[in-house]
Amino acid sequence: MDKLAIVVPCYNEEEVLKIASQALREVLGDLAGKGKISEESFILFVDDGSRDRTWELIEEEHAAYPDRVCGVKLAGNVGHQFALTAGLLTAKDMCDVTVSIDADLQDDVAVIEEMIDKFHAGCDIVYGVRRERKTDTFFKRTTAQAFYKLMSLMGVKTVYNHADFRLMSKRAVEEFSRYKETNLFLRGMMPLLGYQTDSVYYDRRERVAGESKYPLKKMLALAFNGISSFSVKPITLILGLGAFIIVMSFLAAVYALISYCTGHVVPGWTSLILSIWFLGGLQLLAIGLVGQYIGKIYIEVKGRPRYNIEKVLAGGGDEEKEAEEA
Ligand code: UDP
Ligand code: MG
Repeated sequence: MDKLAIVVPCYNEEEVLKIASQALREVLGDLAGKGKISEESFILFVDDGSRDRTWELIEEEHAAYPDRVCGVKLAGNVGHQFALTAGLLTAKDMCDVTVSIDADLQDDVAVIEEMIDKFHAGCDIVYGVRRERKTDTFFKRTTAQAFYKLMSLMGVKTVYNHADFRLMSKRAVEEFSRYKETNLFLRGMMPLLGYQTDSVYYDRRERVAGESKYPLKKMLALAFNGISSFSVKPITLILGLGAFIIVMSFLAAVYALISYCTGHVVPGWTSLILSIWFLGGLQLLAIGLVGQYIGKIYIEVKGRPRYNIEKVLAGGGDEEKEAEEA
């Protein structure tokens, strides 16, 4: 029977912690009762350096339900993506499958069962996808949608309307742990792992209590990080722009020469305007070219695994081995 760990990053969540704990314990009890997961399944709360009573509440829950509720306390606030990573990497040695979910219960805990079913059907990653964004404000909805569009324009593979509510098998988390990069954008990394994936759909609700821990500033930072961690396309755009302006400078040259010959110009204008166009284009082209190398250095520095071997058939021919190293 597979042991499930539900990983919950928490930052100043004293208002929702007990409610979340209760709801998730009920889900675990229910799934274990149906024989879909092991009785030893548990919740792992990650306290992301909260300044309120979050950690004390986690301790209380652990004392009351020692088998069901576990906790990890981070020494300081490192942000949602790192807190979640810390939780997943801690949980992977204690379980067979993980589900990550926010503490505020905006994501529907009822679809965890469907995730587990898909896991048993052979999926290593199951994305929780929001059906609609009715409960989000107009502003959050439009900015978020613009963000997903921009991401795909930049060539970054993401799952539309999926945040970090996700099932990952142990081997998926282990593969993920080989990605050593510090600029984390988890939902962009999961599609890189390969493996069979699927989605489950749900309606996102209002926060049960408390306020969003993702103000506009953090959202913009996440969006910028998402693009800059996965795409060197902006640099290529600069290179393209440089080339375009150089071409334009030749057109400008023709125009300037015609004006010069027809005598409608102030002395000195022709050489000035040509220099401005040509040198401007040349500079952009040069910056773009240097940028191409920097982009490559950036990709090399990340040291991402180049491939993920899922199975090897070797020896007698029917022996299946799971490869560890790539
Ligand atoms: N969170 C965290 N560290 C932070 C900010 C947020 O661990 O620095 C957690 C937070 O406790 C919650 C999840 O990340 O469980 C998502 O945050 P929130 O619900 O406030 O974001 P929103 O749903 O408003 O985008
Ligand atoms: Mg939330």
